[in-house]
Amino acid sequence: MSILLRNISQSVTRSSGSWLTLLLLGVVLVPSICLFWFINQAVQNERFAVRQKLVEAYRTHLVLAQERVQTHWQKLADDIEEQEKKLPAPALFAHVLRLETAEAAVCFDAGGQVLYPSNAVTVVPEKVEPAWAEARSLENQNPAAAVTSYARLAAQNTGTNLAARALHAQARCLLRLGDKDAAIAVMENLLAGKRYGQATDTQGRLLLPNVELMLSELLKDTAPSAASAVRARLQARLLDYDGTVMSTPQRLFLMRELQKAAPEMPAFPPLAAEDLAAQWLAADDGQVRETAVKASLLPGVWQFAPAKGRIVTLHRTEKMLARLQKVISRPDLPADVRVDLFPPDSEAEGTLLSLPMESFMPGWKLTLSLQDQQLFETTTRQRISSYVWVGALVVVTVIILGLLVWGLVRRQIALTQLRNDLVANVTHELKTPLASMRLLVETLLNAPQLHEPTAREYLQLIEKENLRLSRLIDNFLTFSRIERNKSVFTFRKTSATGIAESAAAAVRDRFQTPGCQFEIGIPAGLPHINADSDALVTALVNLLDNAWKYSGETKHIVLSAAAKNGDVIFSVRDNGIGLSPRDTKQIFHRFYQVNQHLSPTGGGCGLGLSIVQFIVAAHHGTVDVESTPGHGSTFRLVVPVAGASLSPEPSS
Ligand code: ADP
Repeated sequence: MSILLRNISQSVTRSSGSWLTLLLLGVVLVPSICLFWFINQAVQNERFAVRQKLVEAYRTHLVLAQERVQTHWQKLADDIEEQEKKLPAPALFAHVLRLETAEAAVCFDAGGQVLYPSNAVTVVPEKVEPAWAEARSLENQNPAAAVTSYARLAAQNTGTNLAARALHAQARCLLRLGDKDAAIAVMENLLAGKRYGQATDTQGRLLLPNVELMLSELLKDTAPSAASAVRARLQARLLDYDGTVMSTPQRLFLMRELQKAAPEMPAFPPLAAEDLAAQWLAADDGQVRETAVKASLLPGVWQFAPAKGRIVTLHRTEKMLARLQKVISRPDLPADVRVDLFPPDSEAEGTLLSLPMESFMPGWKLTLSLQDQQLFETTTRQRISSYVWVGALVVVTVIILGLLVWGLVRRQIALTQLRNDLVANVTHELKTPLASMRLLVETLLNAPQLHEPTAREYLQLIEKENLRLSRLIDNFLTFSRIERNKSVFTFRKTSATGIAESAAAAVRDRFQTPGCQFEIGIPAGLPHINADSDALVTALVNLLDNAWKYSGETKHIVLSAAAKNGDVIFSVRDNGIGLSPRDTKQIFHRFYQVNQHLSPTGGGCGLGLSIVQFIVAAHHGTVDVESTPGHGSTFRLVVPVAGASLSPEPSS
């Protein structure tokens, strides 16, 4: 019955314990999860807020950069529009190149016809005079006669073109004759004549630049400095887009030839521009030209057409971006901020802010990004880490508090369980001896005559039950004191022999019954121990009582003591029912009782051994048991000999 009550109370307590554990887990976990969720939200909000702050701070910079780009194109458009009214097409072409805002330009007239660069050459048909025909025919047959004819023609002709052509032909014939010096002299004469500046050959090409190229070749070996002076003059002429009316093919041809002849001379910038313009013209399909930066049909080349499309400036992507980068990157921009331009259909990644470029650059984007992403990351990380720290601190605090509460509640549960067990056990264990005593007394009282031997036997039984009752109550009281931490021991240097003898004396009378052999092996002169002798005697008596209780009809109980390795070892051996290995581990727990049916004399309430353990622990000693089921048990109390000062230990 008592086991049943105890089992019920234990299982109720166990189930409420696991519910409590779950509840506490919930109490800790739910707020922790919520807190982490809030922290996560706060972190995201913080990132967003930091981003917004940076966007607000830098928006003005981006707007200003946008304005600067617009101004850049507006200025170019205004300038070209103004110059277009004043300058002829080649000069306008050269002007655009000088601005260094475009790689090339193409000029149109109002009707959309190409003005520059143009392959068209104006050839004025001329009537061939008989004297000219004769001189030309002599050129192959009799160059010397041709020289004379051409000299005469040069002297006769007052017209610039013809005189110049005659001198040119004269020099040509002299070269054919091998008279290099004479040819050079004629050429120098031709070049010296200021009036020949615009003279052209029959193909409409300017004569003087060709002569200069030829002369520089002739002088190259004999008079290098004169040759380079001629080349310098030719170079200046080729770069002069304003004065001379040189056709584009002739200019390009001469530029290339001059560069071949004198590779050491600096390159002609217009050469690349002329080439680019020619390529663009070849690819152009006459699409509508606008005052806006648009992709041309040439890959990697953008076109911009101000002055109502009469000028198309051409821009290579990388160069244009580099130029615009200079326009938008101003010293007033913070060092960590980068503003970039992105062409239409390109992806700008990792940017903080983006503005569409309007009017002059449709489809283009102006973006602002942080060169130093670290700044953004550091700013946010600092704030985020403070959130995380606070969160972690709160969670740790909640966990610690939870654990504390859990510990307290568990302790409370254990106490409640103890109380329940105690009540269940006390009620039952007290009732049994009281009932037997009442029965015996009633039997005696109801007997008409007292039969002395029977009366004595009954009184002895009553005494036995009484003793049992007293022991039970003693144990309950000791246990109660232990539980309330009230058990105060008084340690004194005590004879171990005396303690063992006192314990033996306490049980000797009871054990002197037929069927019980009680042996005592206590050597004299055991070392002294620091002990509360009453408490230690109680512990030994408990062990002896158990040996009695858990032995059969024929009992053999041995109480012995010995000194070993600085300890005094008390042992109580019996030949009783013994204990299984599993039970030997449990029997020192409060209220633990092995199946009571196995006890021949009926047991106590499962407190005796826990009291023994408590007392021994207070003496800094240990208690253990060796047992074989069916063959008896040996309990050993090991207590250190006196030497160290001992203080009572609190209950476990
Ligand atoms: P109880 O008051 O029941 O004797 P104890 O704490 O003294 O409580 O013992 C706990 C249990 O250990 C006992 O119920 C018994 O089953 C077992 N026990 C104790 N001493 C012995 C022993 N000498 N031989 C066999 N079993 C024992």
